[in-house]
Amino acid sequence: MKHYTKEDIVRIVNEEDIEFIRLQFSDIFGQMKNVAVTRSQIEKVLNNKIMIDGSSIEGFTRIHESDQYLRPDLNTFAILPWQPAMHKTARLICDVYNPDGTPFVGDPRYVLKRTLKRAEELGYTFNVGPEMEFFLFEADDKGLPTSRTADAAGYFDMAPIDHGGNVRREICLMLEEMGFEIEASHHEVAEGQHEIDFKYEEALTAADNILTFRMAVKTISQNYGLHATFMPKPVFGINGSGMHVNMSLFRDGKNIFFDPNGTKQLSGEAYSFIAGVLAHVRGMAAITNPLVNSYKRLVPGYEAPCYLAWSASNRSALIRIPAARGSSTRVELRCPDPACNPYLAIAVCLAAGLDGIERGMTPPAEITENIYLMTEAERKAHGIDSLPGNLLEAVECLSADPLIVNTLGEHVFTHYTEGKRREWDEYRTRVTDWELKKYMIVY
Ligand code: GLU
Ligand code: MG
Repeated sequence: MKHYTKEDIVRIVNEEDIEFIRLQFSDIFGQMKNVAVTRSQIEKVLNNKIMIDGSSIEGFTRIHESDQYLRPDLNTFAILPWQPAMHKTARLICDVYNPDGTPFVGDPRYVLKRTLKRAEELGYTFNVGPEMEFFLFEADDKGLPTSRTADAAGYFDMAPIDHGGNVRREICLMLEEMGFEIEASHHEVAEGQHEIDFKYEEALTAADNILTFRMAVKTISQNYGLHATFMPKPVFGINGSGMHVNMSLFRDGKNIFFDPNGTKQLSGEAYSFIAGVLAHVRGMAAITNPLVNSYKRLVPGYEAPCYLAWSASNRSALIRIPAARGSSTRVELRCPDPACNPYLAIAVCLAAGLDGIERGMTPPAEITENIYLMTEAERKAHGIDSLPGNLLEAVECLSADPLIVNTLGEHVFTHYTEGKRREWDEYRTRVTDWELKKYMIVY
């Protein structure tokens, strides 16, 4: 991460001849919002004087208390490489503040910052590395998505079967220009599905990066006549898109999940962190898997988890411990999907893991068999519970988990769950094609 002062930013804006500055922030569902100003406003921007009307932002404030201020995080300054060179544009990610100078409790970035503060008080730095999967569909002449994926390739395939190679390369190069370190980029298992992994960062930067990544992928794909989607399960019958989250805690520059003498070279804290996540993951699901569609991915047989278990290698488990040890020791949570609000998702993961550590929890035994192939009775015998089966169940599990509710805070919890209950109602009252095919003739 870069460290910029106000003077640095004024200097770069002049030197690089930047014309526009986009001030970005996130609504409670993780949609990036922005207001653009011209360079003439730079002093106002840097003195936290840019105002927004919060009443028009999903989950923000009510009409009578709508003025809010954007405070840019100077270290997020970056030039947007896909904007035309003749009208150079930079962005700053912002925190949202009330007129009285207090942070706005409905700002998801603040929810994460507040949770990170708790970790910091315990001496921990939280590092997060997401694995972003997405689909590319061909766009029609109006730029709208079709149901045609751009290729028929599979895992690690390459051109000419993989038609996404060029766009992936451009995404990687542009993100590198913005300061990302790209670790891998490849075709995923399903046709039209891709994955790009960037290096882990401290949690706040990782969440900012996820938002930037989604914007970059969508924008650059458009230039290739493609529509990129982070919808978790766009096509029935093939793999969906996950956002596996790799997590580790550091203290004094050392990865505390690593213990050369521990079972599987994992420390007591690592096991307690796993136990904490397993204990709260049902309550976290409405955040990590936020859409009606998210639960169509979490079904057996498509490399996405549905059962609550951990394993050192088994990809059917919810939590996997990748083989790397030493400073790369990490816990991989496999349920989150790329449609989530990354600030809230990372906050609830951390809160759950810390709860496990603070309470000294112990996880159940490792499951090495393929859980998809177990019968319900076998799963019961192993004490393996399931993730919520749909968004409504997930919202109910969230409401029943005080740790997760407190992590979100009253404002975000209330607005988030109200929104998700509305989404569920919209869905459950629709008559689908599947119902028509199944029932129309027979009944
Ligand atoms: N696409 C799978 C998922 O939904 C994951 C495949 C993989 O292991 O990378 O989580
Ligand atoms: Mg993958």
